[in-house]
Amino acid sequence: MSDNGRVTSPDVPHPEALEAAGLRPSLPSPLQEVEDERFARHGVRLLLKRDDLIHPDLVGNKWRKLAPNLRAATGRNLLTFGGAYSNHLRATAAAGRLLGTGTIGVVRGQELADRPLNPSLARCAADGMRLHFVDRSTYRRKAEPEVLAHILRETGAQDAYVVPEGGSNSLAVHGCAVLGEELRGRADVVAVACGTGGTLAGLAAGLAPGQRALGIPVLKGDFLATDVEALQRSAFGARRGTWTLDTRFHFGGYARVPGELEAFADDFGARHGLPVERLYVAKLLYGLAALTERGAFARGTTLAAVITGRPLP
Ligand SMILES: *Cc1c(COP(=O)(O)O)cnc(C)c1O
Repeated sequence: MSDNGRVTSPDVPHPEALEAAGLRPSLPSPLQEVEDERFARHGVRLLLKRDDLIHPDLVGNKWRKLAPNLRAATGRNLLTFGGAYSNHLRATAAAGRLLGTGTIGVVRGQELADRPLNPSLARCAADGMRLHFVDRSTYRRKAEPEVLAHILRETGAQDAYVVPEGGSNSLAVHGCAVLGEELRGRADVVAVACGTGGTLAGLAAGLAPGQRALGIPVLKGDFLATDVEALQRSAFGARRGTWTLDTRFHFGGYARVPGELEAFADDFGARHGLPVERLYVAKLLYGLAALTERGAFARGTTLAAVITGRPLP
């Protein structure tokens, strides 16, 4: 464990001061139509929901998911979990810096403790996050009460506010329902890339009847429908809205970005002046172009793609 922590001031400005402290979002995020013949020739209108513009440091869905948790934490230290390249860890660290709140990041991979920090973890540390590396089997079992209690003891963070991996809990799902509400009446299908599925769970619940949410998982596996359903049950007591998953566009799994996907993302970025984040947004946009080409959307469909993030600088 590398301990680069700092002392949290006891009089952290909370919770009313979230905005004053630099967490003021730019909402609702813009909805932009793009001209792209790969969609137009199939009679599909493509809109980009620019959640990447919500906040300079807490980008996209990470702002929507973290803000309600930051309010609930009422100034306590925040402890959360992520892999070595987790956008969620970076957003949490940035929030800690902006609010003057201590943050602890539990990172998957004991072996990383002995290596120089990668740029993503270095950014977390520079923002004051205390990094605590755990082996992969401990990480897998982090939701088990004894394992979590052990981690809290080891980090001396017994009183911390714990946010799950990826930031997806009930409060986060409620935060993402606002994304759906912002899109009511604006599109027939709203598509989003999925990691833990918290964003999709909220989005689908916020849309109006008749609108459909489409999730594109970036991880390999069949767990996500169950997870999204569980997140909706815990947030709303029942399944909400109309949503489906298309599991064909993970490109081999998380953080796998083959050349074909790189080329697509570069080209899309150049055509539309959009910096295309590779791990999630590129797979979403590629999937939508492929589905449109296969005739998956009826002529006359308005399709909104949620741009949940932007590339690391
Ligand atoms: C975290 C993240 C997601 C995934 O959000 P989930 O709620 O975990 O499904 C999507 N896009 C970007 C850019 C992200 O950083």
